[in-house]
Amino acid sequence: MTDEQLAFDIEGMLHEAAVEDAPEWRGAPLHFTTAYLSPSDLDAAIAHWQSLHRLDGSRRDSRMWHRAIAVPGGVDVGEHGFDLFTVDLRCDPWKHPEPHADCACVGDLTYMAICEPHAWRVIASDENAAVEGWHDHAFPGWRDLPVVPARLRNTDEIGLSKAARKWVEQRYPASMQIVGAPVITERSGIGTRHVPGRSPWGGYDISNTAVEPSQAVIRRSRARAVSVDPIRCRADSGPVLRI
Ligand SMILES: [Zn+2]
Repeated sequence: MTDEQLAFDIEGMLHEAAVEDAPEWRGAPLHFTTAYLSPSDLDAAIAHWQSLHRLDGSRRDSRMWHRAIAVPGGVDVGEHGFDLFTVDLRCDPWKHPEPHADCACVGDLTYMAICEPHAWRVIASDENAAVEGWHDHAFPGWRDLPVVPARLRNTDEIGLSKAARKWVEQRYPASMQIVGAPVITERSGIGTRHVPGRSPWGGYDISNTAVEPSQAVIRRSRARAVSVDPIRCRADSGPVLRI
């Protein structure tokens, strides 16, 4: 046995001992759940799961909520809060190379937007749908906002061009020109993701496909068909994947 292997084994044994000695976990469930949990409870649970599974870096295996890449931390928006989590409920291609009858995976990369002050959340089967659901909660009426025309886009600038900002300031109601409020912009091609932090007030730049169904149809025919209905979860307690 080399020194390296020995060191590795000792580390492994120490880890096992630490796991055995850890006090009983009383936080959020260490598996998939649709229950309302605060962002900090979800953060603590995934951190705990990762401490128990030191040698397994894949968050997918946990089937637990973790921060979405687009929104790494919570944002205060007036009386609301915005946190975006994701969970990977797809089948593990290594374990399940083909679709199979006994698979209990819900089956998607799933998203949840949370408003902590109101203990509110929406769960959706894609990121855009979760973001839209949150805006329905925090900015009712946003779907009626004017769509910023694509011709005002300046491809040299990140975010809205000066012309687009002026257009928005002249046309958006004062009640929607507040911190965290969104803009809706006309998109072309497949660039239909809603982008956080890109409105003049630090809110989302929402793709017009959210409010113009004909655009959404085009989008869906280009990408894979995705349901925007909240998912119906088969398992609220216990792991969703039987292995
Ligand atoms: Zn709220």
